[in-house]
Amino acid sequence: MQRIVEVEKFEFENEIEKSLRPSAWDEYIGQEKIKKVLNISIEAAKKRSEPLDHILFFGPPGLGKTTMASLISSRMGANLKVTAGPMIEKSGDLAAILTNLSEGDVLFIDEIHRLSSAIEEVLYSAMEDFRLDIVIGSGPAAQTVKIDIPRFTLIGATTRAGMLSSPLRDRFGMHFRMQFYEPSELAKIVQNAGIKLGKECDDKAANEIALRSRGTPRIALRLLKRVRDFSDYKNEEKIVFETAKEALNELGINEYGFDEMDLKLLSLLVESGGKPLGLNTLSAALSEDSDTIEDVYEPYLLANGFLERTARGRMATFKTFDALGLPRIQTQNIFDLD
Ligand code: ADP
Repeated sequence: MQRIVEVEKFEFENEIEKSLRPSAWDEYIGQEKIKKVLNISIEAAKKRSEPLDHILFFGPPGLGKTTMASLISSRMGANLKVTAGPMIEKSGDLAAILTNLSEGDVLFIDEIHRLSSAIEEVLYSAMEDFRLDIVIGSGPAAQTVKIDIPRFTLIGATTRAGMLSSPLRDRFGMHFRMQFYEPSELAKIVQNAGIKLGKECDDKAANEIALRSRGTPRIALRLLKRVRDFSDYKNEEKIVFETAKEALNELGINEYGFDEMDLKLLSLLVESGGKPLGLNTLSAALSEDSDTIEDVYEPYLLANGFLERTARGRMATFKTFDALGLPRIQTQNIFDLD
């Protein structure tokens, strides 16, 4: 039981990752609209000495949902408890987590769409009335026991907006969709991280890493660490553009930020001869789990027009052909078949 409450995503991070995670509100770059609304709600809740309303974050992995939850809890002067949907297997697991909270605590549930419906139901009264309705026994002798729990804030994160049941979604007072980051924002994140790592990055190098990071801070930081290896190897004082470019090319990250899996996926779409491909076909051809394709690979490709999702399946676009260096004329022919 203890495990579920104490399994912190942060525990699995190494010291470097921990040091790179923003610990102050102002270090969190981008997502300005979300920050503005949250800032007002946080200050208002503090004035009323009330816990903050429950918050739901949507968005692909690595965009800063967990980081934001931890910054919110520190702004609220509250403890943060971190868990994830797949770790809560029984209603009793969730009841134990909730009864162990203190007044005002923030509970972060990552991958909240993966809670079973029985467990979701326990959350309803907990979120609405700060009360647990626990059914003891079964059949006609079953009894419901009501237990009051401390007032807390639930922060849920999901990569799948569509997979959350509407009763659960409706119980969150605030819904935020995390956006992919602009290259200028990622460049700032890379520069700040470079300073923390003791290896500064010049503007052009930071920009080059940013452009190849698929709009995602976690990827930008991962690439920065690899580029830093190249730079240290060459005994450079600072990370410079040429080294960044060379390292990224060596790592097989192209100028669109695509890695090997992106390229394989896009090639399949182009090679299908204009036929839309279903998720299961892609999953089998790529030997990759279909959830991972939908949650990790597709959102960035979709958001940037490199892939189109139609009722009949996934299709290539003009940009797919450009990105793979193929003539557009082929695209035109393919769309003519439609
Ligand atoms: P998610 O929970 O959405 O998967 P995380 O919050 O774990 O993403 O973010 C991944 C990493 O990227 C974090 O360790 C953090 O260092 C960095 N990061 C994310 N968002 C930002 C941001 N807005 N500003 C600076 N660093 C960020």
